Amino acid sequence: MNLSDLGEFGFIEQLRQMASGAAPGLAVAIGDDCAIIEVGDDRLAVTTDAMVEGRHFRLDWLTAREVGARAMTAALSDVAAMGAAPQYSFVSLGLPPDWPAERALELARGLVEQAEAHGAGLAGGDTVAADQAFVDVVAIGRCREHLWLRSGARVGDGLYVTGSLGGPAAAVDARLGGREPGACWESYAHPQPRVREAAQLEPLGVVHAAMDISDGLVQDAGHLCDQSGVGIVIRAAQVPVHTGVAQIAERLGRDPLQYALSGGEEFELLLTAPPGALGELQAAVAVPLQQIGEVVDGGSVVVLDATGSEVRPPVAGWDHFRHRTE
Ligand code: ADP
Ligand code: MG
Repeated sequence: MNLSDLGEFGFIEQLRQMASGAAPGLAVAIGDDCAIIEVGDDRLAVTTDAMVEGRHFRLDWLTAREVGARAMTAALSDVAAMGAAPQYSFVSLGLPPDWPAERALELARGLVEQAEAHGAGLAGGDTVAADQAFVDVVAIGRCREHLWLRSGARVGDGLYVTGSLGGPAAAVDARLGGREPGACWESYAHPQPRVREAAQLEPLGVVHAAMDISDGLVQDAGHLCDQSGVGIVIRAAQVPVHTGVAQIAERLGRDPLQYALSGGEEFELLLTAPPGALGELQAAVAVPLQQIGEVVDGGSVVVLDATGSEVRPPVAGWDHFRHRTE
């Protein structure tokens, strides 16, 4: 069996079973956006995210500075998804020795700028030579009063999402298809972690469960189901699709909704909170928030169209070993 048969999540599950998880103060181990570590009276949220040239980024599409900022965004987004405040970051870089020094420095600049914009000072890292560039970012945040776990969803909750979806995936498809990505490009090249929104929403105390959308809405909602022991209904007509997606989808002969259901690297927050919480949640943040479904009994994600018929996305999201998951 190859890794592509096992799949990224099959591998992680076996790895999780190997690890005892028994370490003093380790309150949440493998399975959430961050691990939670208790240190004295504080709780720290810790995550690491890696990106590899050719797999996660292309230097003919993005500047090195953009690559650095995106890598930092991925890690900071996981901290925000715990309702926590980023505090520190560490960066390990693998760089080809024949790179222009200026490119490497621009990559570093993107990392540092994005870290500092969100309160996560660069505290260390490692630098090695590599045939293909890679960036791995560790982010550490301080948890607030309410911890947002993937396991907190309750039957009856509403399912809410920040911002709009599908832009990054549509932008990539446009570029691959030789088309102009238009308005979607910004969402792909300059995604922002929802650090401020987490800070504004956490004090409300109404969020039961949260994660960030990094691998595709349907697939990531599936992780909420697994961790919370619930089902989720997503109402396709309510899913906010990035305004630039329709044009790209039309030109490529694709369904715009699929980009929003299964596109990755969104870095939007997916939240559950009591039904009727939308007004309170929306009043706390500037970014648009939308209720896109409900938490129900069951164990999996069902997507329904406006008539109540089930929509079966051809792919649920991103699997690093399979590229796309069913
Ligand atoms: P996210 O998309 O939020 O970064 P992932 O899907 O990458 O989360 O990972 C899911 C969970 O599996 C996380 O808790 C992560 O820490 C854990 N995980 C992934 N890869 C490894 C690994 N190589 N070793 C230990 N834990 C891992
Ligand atoms: Mg995450």
